[in-house]
Amino acid sequence: MFSKRIQNLSASLTIAIDVKAKEFIRRGIPVINLSVGEPDFQTPENIKKAAISAINEGHTFYPSPDGIVELRDAIVKKFKRDNTLEYDPSDIIVGVGAKEILYNTFQVLCDKGDEVIIAAPTYNSFVEQVKLADAHPITIRLKPPFKLTANDIKKALTPKTKIILLNSPSNPTGAMIDEEELKKIADLAVKKNIFIISDEIYEKLTYTKKHISIASLNEKIKEQTITANGVSKTYAMTGWRVGYAAGPKKIIEKMKALQSQLVVNTSSISQYAAVEALTGDQKSVEIMKKAFAKRREFCIKELSGVKEISFEEPEGAFYLFISIEKLLNKKYPTSSFWAEALLEKEKVAVVPGESFFYPGWIRISYAASDDNLKEAMKRIKRFIEKG
Ligand code: PMP
Repeated sequence: MFSKRIQNLSASLTIAIDVKAKEFIRRGIPVINLSVGEPDFQTPENIKKAAISAINEGHTFYPSPDGIVELRDAIVKKFKRDNTLEYDPSDIIVGVGAKEILYNTFQVLCDKGDEVIIAAPTYNSFVEQVKLADAHPITIRLKPPFKLTANDIKKALTPKTKIILLNSPSNPTGAMIDEEELKKIADLAVKKNIFIISDEIYEKLTYTKKHISIASLNEKIKEQTITANGVSKTYAMTGWRVGYAAGPKKIIEKMKALQSQLVVNTSSISQYAAVEALTGDQKSVEIMKKAFAKRREFCIKELSGVKEISFEEPEGAFYLFISIEKLLNKKYPTSSFWAEALLEKEKVAVVPGESFFYPGWIRISYAASDDNLKEAMKRIKRFIEKG
């Protein structure tokens, strides 16, 4: 009955765990949810107000498939301000979260048999979306500290390589690609005429060094790069569903055409809110980042004394990716079993490594309140002790 495409599709395990955890919480079961990648903060007030004004001012009609002009102007300014990238509003597309933007890009660029290079551990939507475009995800298995290099990519290249996917800082590891490697990757992509999709959704959440956009390195690589981003993580706006991309006009135009037949665009109200997010007071970004930095320190301190587990200190995003390989045994043979038992026994929701094509590990999100994190660390340590 079902198409091959859908038969081959795995639903997002992270989203499934989040739904389950939220349902437990709704029923009064004291689950601490460290699963989904979502800031626990409310969307800042100035952004909420902009949305309310948009409703009151009557911005309630179909937005264009490109995105409203005001938002594309704001995105142009953002790229200039934050990434030293010059774009025209016509080089910009707005969509239903970075997730739909990424889906759209793969649909526009990939044909049957094309290969997309993806470093694992990886956000699993990259892999599933590539499959939905009839292309092949070629995953490179990175070892800790999970830092992608041009050499890793070189080994995975074939004549069918169409795209190299970059995600720095990375979900789930928080690792960032070093500037030297980024330059080498750009040179390689230009030499081999391969597109880059650069998912920069965690660019503002960096703790050790500043993020660099690969497209800003030189004009040649800019011509081959689609830079995807969104407001979900930086502005605590996961529910508003606004993502965007900048890239070569001819690609962006095709993405707009696809969007015109698919979703038209994300809500006009959300788009007006995103204008305020990108151009309004940026104080809240700093406040949230400081809170994440403190929580990152706290989790590192709490868990670094636990000898059964190991992890790298993340450079960005709001995740800790933790090896629990030493804890796997007959009782808990895989990280999925282990995470399931942690939820059942200690009521802490985390995502098993299977979801990132890296079994034997788990991901915790520290985008949770200080109290919840404190309690979660206690429960995780107790679960490791007791088994
Ligand atoms: N890319 C990465 C790497 C992510 O981690 C996420 C969210 N988990 C997204 C894209 C999707 O973000 P959005 O809410 O903008 O769709």
